[in-house]
Amino acid sequence: MRGVVVALGGNALQRSGGPGDWAEARRHMRATAAALVEVVRDGRALAVTHGNGPQVGQLLRQNEIAEREVPPRPLDALGAESQGQIGYLIAQELEAALARARLPRSVLVFVSRMEVAVRDPAFRRPTKPVGRFYPDAEARLLRKRTGWTLVYDGARGGWRRVVPSPQPTRWVEAEAVRSLLGRSWGERVVPVIAGGGGVPVIRNRTGGFDGVEAVIDKDRSAAVVAEALGVEDLAIVTDVPGVAVGFGKTWERWLGEVTPDELAQHAKNGEFAEGSMGPKVEAVLRFLDHGGHVGTIADIPSLRRALRGEAGTRVVRTAR
Ligand code: ADP
Ligand code: MG
Repeated sequence: MRGVVVALGGNALQRSGGPGDWAEARRHMRATAAALVEVVRDGRALAVTHGNGPQVGQLLRQNEIAEREVPPRPLDALGAESQGQIGYLIAQELEAALARARLPRSVLVFVSRMEVAVRDPAFRRPTKPVGRFYPDAEARLLRKRTGWTLVYDGARGGWRRVVPSPQPTRWVEAEAVRSLLGRSWGERVVPVIAGGGGVPVIRNRTGGFDGVEAVIDKDRSAAVVAEALGVEDLAIVTDVPGVAVGFGKTWERWLGEVTPDELAQHAKNGEFAEGSMGPKVEAVLRFLDHGGHVGTIADIPSLRRALRGEAGTRVVRTAR
């Protein structure tokens, strides 16, 4: 069975601008699940990973509001919490959809850790915005009280906390999950792995790990997971139907099938924004570099056709 890791972006999980409540999350996931069922129907062994930005934002806000009564949890614990919450949502909706389609699978959620390097330069330069926007006075106070780095976003009118976004170096549970799943996992199981990029941890002196206040880009982790599972395909699902050059410009052009070299050249030319399309392109290139066959970037409506080579942006080692 040809295996695929599908990485679900924020939009595949939660409608932006929606109320952000659980009922809506379920409705939205039902639509996403329908697209994933088609992938399984096409004979693929499916593994899923996902983002967690809006959900961690909500958990951080809960922390703030409740802090007089419930001690706030650190960011790594909230990352784990979001994996459980979103993983449960995917399990509920996807398992039911697969059963209805007579393609029964158990959807298993693995709360996952990703090792990062203490020396990763990202720790000296926090870039990833988390949580809500703060007015001037509150931002000053927070900086003093917590030592956070806050950056001003003029367009959205406020200060926002930024945290480091280090590179994942190793999926901690990789060996264990691989042996648990066995060889023909695709026929029985859909694993959900490394949600939100996995919880970032660093090795400590006692042989264990410590969680860190950082966020790993879920697209980068998806490449690590895809490599560890040895799948042929990595599909990154987002809210645009693929990768464009001249994105948003009059000369915009959407890419179909491309080689890694072509894509790397576009990246060098600065075509892909750092916090959004950049890491997806980087993840796909890394995946191909480490033995992957095809890296796909698509949206939910075009996912099935993209995996059949008929839509989306497909990065293959030898394009025709
Ligand atoms: P996700 O939650 O799926 O990770 P992101 O917002 O991080 O979504 O990334 C997807 C976004 O990347 C698109 O909505 C688009 O605005 C942006 N983007 C930046 N550069 C490009 C590009 N060259 N081609 C396509 N999309 C781009
Ligand atoms: Mg993103």
